[in-house]
Amino acid sequence: MNIHEYQAKELLKSYGIPVPPGEVVYSDRAAARVAEELGGSRWVVKAQIHAGGRGKGGGVKLANSVGKVADLADQMIGSTLVTAQTGDAGKRVQRVLIERASRIDREFYLGMIVDRVSQKIVVIASAEGGVDIEQVATERPDAIHTEHVDPGVGLLDFQCRKVATAIGLANRAASFTRLLKRIYRLFRDKDCLLLEINPFIVTEDGDLVALDCKMEFDDNALYRQSAVAELRDFEEEDPKEVDASGHGLNYVALDGNVGCIVNGAGLAMGTMDAIAHHGGRPANFLDVGGGASPEKIANAFRIVLTDPNVHAILVNIFAGINRCDWIAQGVVQATRDQRIDVPVIVRGDARRKFKDELQTGRAKMSICGTCDVGPAGKEGPSFWSAITYWSPNKTDLPPG
Ligand code: GDP
Ligand code: MN
Repeated sequence: MNIHEYQAKELLKSYGIPVPPGEVVYSDRAAARVAEELGGSRWVVKAQIHAGGRGKGGGVKLANSVGKVADLADQMIGSTLVTAQTGDAGKRVQRVLIERASRIDREFYLGMIVDRVSQKIVVIASAEGGVDIEQVATERPDAIHTEHVDPGVGLLDFQCRKVATAIGLANRAASFTRLLKRIYRLFRDKDCLLLEINPFIVTEDGDLVALDCKMEFDDNALYRQSAVAELRDFEEEDPKEVDASGHGLNYVALDGNVGCIVNGAGLAMGTMDAIAHHGGRPANFLDVGGGASPEKIANAFRIVLTDPNVHAILVNIFAGINRCDWIAQGVVQATRDQRIDVPVIVRGDARRKFKDELQTGRAKMSICGTCDVGPAGKEGPSFWSAITYWSPNKTDLPPG
């Protein structure tokens, strides 16, 4: 789960990590009021979306009058911002953060991630932070410093000093160490997967300040992070994923064109591999879980079909804790609830019962059938040849 920059900054602040004074607003009038309250003569207006690259995309702008703050807020709120991280469709800006502008002396990059390979938390730092960090990382990886932290031991002072020295902050090692340890504590306390401060600045007055912040949390830990869970902004998420989670379906949108409806995360991943192996690209990961009711299966169809890239659907069920007749009823129900113009290929173990149910409901279906995922055998056609065999609107059953 991701949160907005202004929310991340509130968390940083609550852990004693300095951030610029500011407030989030939803209108130009509120923007002007906040600028007045903050005082000073220069402000920054920042579009709040769950994507970076805003600086280069026009989503971070400086203003030197209250009127200009209001104008910028008015332009940004309601607009669609396209950055290197949003994809071509961009993201709609619903709110902006107004801050007193900082006077930057130097910009650094500072991040923490959970590294699955080393099973440690890795601190990542660079003296060349700011909007070009991706370019620095690919062109001059030696400008990026990493420090592995054993979570059982915690972040030690000498490691903080090492990082400080590596990025040219040896003269501020004591204050940097204090800050880094606070960031680490926040990271651990809140079950973060990623915490990125880019840029982390030294101001002209010599203060260390977090000028931007991105935080990502482990969804599996949200059950014990209710305060974090409340920060979730559903508007920023894929509506299909939000819809699916509301129905207890484990759905992740992908960019292929074969929709997958599968039970069990392992089989779902195996199915995606099989599709890729046969030259296709999965449009989604979807685990319907155990004991899936017909309604749940019908919802799975509905959600998978809201993706316009889906050109075919593969239902792959290994009936252990699921009832195949329920799955089949769900498939039939789905075809009654809506018109399905793409080929649907159903594969199920406990096939007999499965097939019977599908056959019974067949009159109402545009297409149905059973097959093996692998190459064609005496059990039926291969999944992939089935896909190519069927074209939209064909109502006949495949061979085999
Ligand atoms: P991102 O592009 O989405 O990562 O947005 P950031 O919040 O990192 O802002 C992009 C860039 O805008 C920063 O790297 C800074 O150079 C600049 N910027 C942001 N806030 C301020 C500010 O208060 N003062 C000045 N001078 N520049 C700022
Ligand atoms: Mn940034």
